[in-house]
Amino acid sequence: MDDESVVNQYTLQFEDEPVLDIEYVDHDGWEGMDDPCPECDSTEFDHVRYEGGHYGQHHDTVTERTDYWDQKGSLYTACYDCGEVLYKNPAYDILEAFETDELGYSE
Ligand SMILES: [Zn+2]
Repeated sequence: MDDESVVNQYTLQFEDEPVLDIEYVDHDGWEGMDDPCPECDSTEFDHVRYEGGHYGQHHDTVTERTDYWDQKGSLYTACYDCGEVLYKNPAYDILEAFETDELGYSE
């Protein structure tokens, strides 16, 4: 990985759970998905984002009203071809730990 990329590492510990390593990554030289991978020039990415809005019933159907309120952003982007992590929000590692049972909260 590039020396100027921002990589911050944190640890997180829930009571009675193993210490979890979490990471923030912002790859230097990559501006977004209209920009090719700085490592291999690929334009294919694995991307995870979060998105939410205001929900309510309208004629018995739940509808989303993003004109009232919405919230979205990027959680993780990696190059599809070389696997280089180009962006990672620290929340991604926490989500993954919950989903893969690393923290033991899955049912
Ligand atoms: Zn790549």
